[in-house]
Amino acid sequence: MEIGFIGLGHMGFPMVANLLANGYAVRVYDTSDAAVAKAVEQGAMAAQSLIDLTQSADAIITMLPTPAVVRSVLCVPGGVIANAKQNALIIDCSTSDPQTAVEVEALGAVAGKIVLDAPVSGGVLGAKAGTLTFMVGGSKDGFLLAKSILSAMGKNIVHCGAAGSGQAAKLCNNLLLGVSTVAVSESMCLGASLGLEPEVLAQIINTSSGRCWVSELYNPYPGVVKDAPASNNFAGGFACDLMIKDLSLALDAAHGTRQPLPMTSVSKQLFQLLSHQGHGDKDISAIVEMFKK
Ligand code: NAD
Repeated sequence: MEIGFIGLGHMGFPMVANLLANGYAVRVYDTSDAAVAKAVEQGAMAAQSLIDLTQSADAIITMLPTPAVVRSVLCVPGGVIANAKQNALIIDCSTSDPQTAVEVEALGAVAGKIVLDAPVSGGVLGAKAGTLTFMVGGSKDGFLLAKSILSAMGKNIVHCGAAGSGQAAKLCNNLLLGVSTVAVSESMCLGASLGLEPEVLAQIINTSSGRCWVSELYNPYPGVVKDAPASNNFAGGFACDLMIKDLSLALDAAHGTRQPLPMTSVSKQLFQLLSHQGHGDKDISAIVEMFKK
């Protein structure tokens, strides 16, 4: 089976590496030539264009930054849905929004293609380790077809329901990631300003009621988690600007149901301030710098 993979960034590149390691033939496309060259070095085949990629792929995975880019790759006449093979499986792993997912799935159904939304959680570390969680929206049949492919890149593959439900689950998860990154930053910086050693404080939190994924595996305080972006000058990982996108998508989705999201709103403003100060491409853990003395 040949897989077409579009979007070879922080997440896409290690996901491709895991597909290759599991024996899949992978043809890749990215607007960055350097990203394509890096994947080819790992054993992937380079597509010359989107249409080139669609000609031979049995399944096509997208890992792109925003809903607008997803639409520009999937929905245009020269794009994936119009040109993919009949019955091709198209899996959008980008964090997009439920409405885009519903519209893309409907367009695919008209064109005889199976489209799923399958955003992920686990970050770059999970993408490298092949332990991502996939939240899948779309038909049960499509989910069963996709499961073995997604298992090459992740551990938890969950069918959330109809088209758009994967994106809905992802937005709920990521607002919690955004809010908890801010909250752990506040806590760690209060501890430091009261004279506590950050490592000691993290150890206490991680065996106490404040423990969460951010405090334990993605602690924003530099030096606490050795392989986290915070210990690498906030490089790699999950860009602040992408978190602003996710929090905005959650707020937009909540607007439709009149669901109040005050913590999400405040967290979005803080990440926006960080981006405004020129740090939009840094990992989300860089928010800790706003609280440090
Ligand atoms: P990234 O910016 O590192 O990578 C995006 C890639 O898409 C880049 O290589 C870029 O060149 C490519 N691209 C952009 N426009 C394109 C186009 N029109 N055609 C082909 N390629 C194009 O982003 P990322 O961190 O890998 O995130 C990708 C998606 O995964 C986002 O939706 C993000 O919200 C989501 N996500 C990221 C993380 C994380 O920790 N980084 C975790 C979970 C989910």
